[in-house]
Amino acid sequence: MSLNAFDFRDIDPGERVLMGPGPSDVPARVLQAMSAPCIGHLDPVFLSIMDETQQLLRFLFQTENALTIPVSGTGSAGMETCFVNLVEPGDEVVVCVNGVFGTRMVDIVNRLGGKLIRVDAEWGRTIDPELVRQAVKGRHPKVLAVVHAETSTGVCQPLDDLCAIAKESGALFLVDMVTSLGGLDVALDRTGIDAAYSGTQKCISCPPGLSPLSFSTAAMKVLQQRKTPVASWYLDMSMVSSYWGADRKYHHTAPINMIYALREALRIIAEEGLEARFARHRVNHRALVAGVEAMGLSMLVAEGERLPMLNAIRIPEGANDLKVRKALLNDFSMEIGGGLGALAGKVWRVGLMGHASRRRNVFLFLSALETILKAQGVSIGTGALEASARVYDAMTV
Ligand SMILES: *Cc1c(COP(=O)(O)O)cnc(C)c1O
Repeated sequence: MSLNAFDFRDIDPGERVLMGPGPSDVPARVLQAMSAPCIGHLDPVFLSIMDETQQLLRFLFQTENALTIPVSGTGSAGMETCFVNLVEPGDEVVVCVNGVFGTRMVDIVNRLGGKLIRVDAEWGRTIDPELVRQAVKGRHPKVLAVVHAETSTGVCQPLDDLCAIAKESGALFLVDMVTSLGGLDVALDRTGIDAAYSGTQKCISCPPGLSPLSFSTAAMKVLQQRKTPVASWYLDMSMVSSYWGADRKYHHTAPINMIYALREALRIIAEEGLEARFARHRVNHRALVAGVEAMGLSMLVAEGERLPMLNAIRIPEGANDLKVRKALLNDFSMEIGGGLGALAGKVWRVGLMGHASRRRNVFLFLSALETILKAQGVSIGTGALEASARVYDAMTV
């Protein structure tokens, strides 16, 4: 087998505006932090970087939980970590399903031999707590799991009622925060959440590769009292936690430079402040919706149930989904997402996540979409940019 190394050119992806369902735009500071020298995973300098990363993660999750770490892997690794550590074969597990990521939880619970209690809502709607209450009646589920920000539909799930139901039935409350952490208020301790996981590439604005995760004392107790060993060696938190804790016992080599990146992304979040960050996500979302509606397009999710960081827009009559997204990428260097599953070809998913949630991107997207739709002969309303600008103007008075 012969190979000419010079056939392979430098990697040069060009600059993109990442307004899809993730990854989102990564600030230059984060990429710079990643390029610091790689050192050993037990080097004292790295150990203190780990401690600081945990401190910053607790700040972001708003928790005192000792086990608050980045799992080595993407958001799905965090999802799998939660279930594999907290569920044993035969345990009853309630999973709420109103989109792709709820169905992924179902798949994992089934693979682990859990007894699934499934509560569904239409895709694009929130889960009705009353249905969950009925589903757990007379049962003793080990875990009640829900997705906070369903990235496949743009629905924001209120957590308080579901948390109360979990507590009443003696279940741990497990929440997917992959898309919400860093963009929505997700106070673990105040809400009473027992297990949560996220991903670095959505509202944290760091490249993909780590999954921030946090377990409450109650979740740790469930883990310690297991009758069977955790079915995954790599994701066994009873072992991983002794590397992140005082023992510093080697388990697997930490992805050193990814942790530099996460620490920098978290430092940027702390500099901005959580309240300011959440407010920024809200206003850019409102400005986007105002522009989209001025064009005569409509949102999939009802007002009041929408996520600020993921906007599902119904594809208007006469528009070609793929052609529009191709033009956005080729002519405007902009990525948005298409629909998943039942929503394929029906919606566009426009992310305003973390660093990408800014006025510039809102205006760029609206003008690009307007230009493309007009060029493709789709009739749309006028004044999108003005409608959007009015939202920002109203803010400053
Ligand atoms: C993106 C996402 C995941 C999966 O994360 P990966 O990083 O792609 O593995 C899980 N849940 C939700 C809600 C997501 O948006």
